[in-house]
Amino acid sequence: MLEDIHHNCGVVAVYDLDRDRNSNVARHIPEFLLDLQHRGQLAAGMTTYNAGRNRLLYTFKDTGTVNEVFQLGQKIIAEKTVEDFSGIAAIGHVRYATSGRDESDYAQPFETYHGRRWKWFSIGFNGNIANFYSLRKKLMEKRSYHMIYNVDTEILNHYIAYGLRGNTKPSLTSLFKELSESVDGAYNIVFLNADGDMAVIRDPLAMRPLCYGVKDNLFIAASESIVLKNFEVDNIRFFKPGEMVLIDGKTRTVKLKKYANSTLSARCFFEWVYFSHVSSILDEHPVYMARVAFGKILAELETETMDSSCVAVPVPDTAKPAGDAYAFQLQIPSMEAIVRNRYVGRTFIEGADRVKKAARKYTLQEHMLRNKRVFLIEDSVVRSTTARALIQRLKTIGGAKEVHLRVACPPIIAPCFYGIHIPSITELFAPKFFKFPPRTGILPQKTLKIMAKSVDADSLIYLPVNEVSESIGLSQNLLCQACINGQYPTPAGRHLYEKALKAYHSQQPED
Ligand code: SF4
Repeated sequence: MLEDIHHNCGVVAVYDLDRDRNSNVARHIPEFLLDLQHRGQLAAGMTTYNAGRNRLLYTFKDTGTVNEVFQLGQKIIAEKTVEDFSGIAAIGHVRYATSGRDESDYAQPFETYHGRRWKWFSIGFNGNIANFYSLRKKLMEKRSYHMIYNVDTEILNHYIAYGLRGNTKPSLTSLFKELSESVDGAYNIVFLNADGDMAVIRDPLAMRPLCYGVKDNLFIAASESIVLKNFEVDNIRFFKPGEMVLIDGKTRTVKLKKYANSTLSARCFFEWVYFSHVSSILDEHPVYMARVAFGKILAELETETMDSSCVAVPVPDTAKPAGDAYAFQLQIPSMEAIVRNRYVGRTFIEGADRVKKAARKYTLQEHMLRNKRVFLIEDSVVRSTTARALIQRLKTIGGAKEVHLRVACPPIIAPCFYGIHIPSITELFAPKFFKFPPRTGILPQKTLKIMAKSVDADSLIYLPVNEVSESIGLSQNLLCQACINGQYPTPAGRHLYEKALKAYHSQQPED
């Protein structure tokens, strides 16, 4: 993807279930987090549990990539960190900020200390709380809590702490049931307390992916299956909506529980389009195959006549399966005429405008482009600023005769309130071209022509909304597609969209 539409964090959890072994599972956390690095590069961290250590729970975290935080390039330091933080259970997190700043205090896990072991806990969180402001108000005004960081992880910590009030240790199932009755949004949580109890929970609508498995008596859970696959876990299981895994600190037994009554699901379709790793399988549906299907549909929708000067150019790396499938279907070559510079650091391109960012991030191979009719395959278009910049470069620097933009996603018409940084309606590209958002993703030819012209493309084709679920292999009512059809799966999402629409229309000139 060309745009800065950001990933939304990743979580992992690991527990040594063998009571005679007590291995140090902290050593697995950096390798697991590396597999989820694409979900967040701002910060990384872990909390471990060790009954033989004064600090029963111990948290290590900082800003930076997994390599930077765990100093994986410096063997002695990396090994010392893993030894200093050794434990039989651990949770880990990579962060991209959907709220809060880029500081180490905001890195996760978030640990809340208490002198009583079952009230002392740490959490890692993936998602976004849509009713954040009403929860914060309730905490501060009615319950006299204080917020330092003003981020949703802090809200969750306070709500969990509140759920642990009193003198009797509650069951973690009832604790998270109570939490689910207050929280609206997407929230996968990995939880560890100083009794050594672990809970891994998927939110009642299953918006973000989460899976688990056991290998050699090691329990492993992660946002994406690639973590378990690379660890050679057989029999990867996917959490159903509102399910949780509980591991008892005393017995180290694993129990799968339903903590919330879920009759629906709203899995984020964008996980298949862009966020998740191409090798991951989400709820039994492979990301790669969905992207291939998107490309085939784009080929079926093609209106241009193909000739020997036509070439498909997928934007690396997310659009590659769609681009290759599109090209195969139309019997034209799929070329790596845009090469991604993998070693451009995040900080190096920070602050640069999108045009410069695109130039630093991607190198064009002119010899593949000159005098060609280029079919540029993109996974999605959010703001379009960088799409425009890239199309211009394909023409001016690359010498392409024509550039036709093919988008393996429907037009994005609405913001996301569930943890993906899809900006306000005003910043989005598509809504600028129609008064009432089309819920089907199918736009009149006349509108498509105007949209194409505005990004210097010779033509534009989007994937229709109904093809998304078909391609993924899940029916529409099991997916969240709010940013492409405006239908939000939760009350807070609907409320925020109504407000956003009102604000957007009040800024638009009258006809
Ligand atoms: S609004 Fe879009 S990006 Fe956000 S959760 Fe729903 S489908 Fe995913």
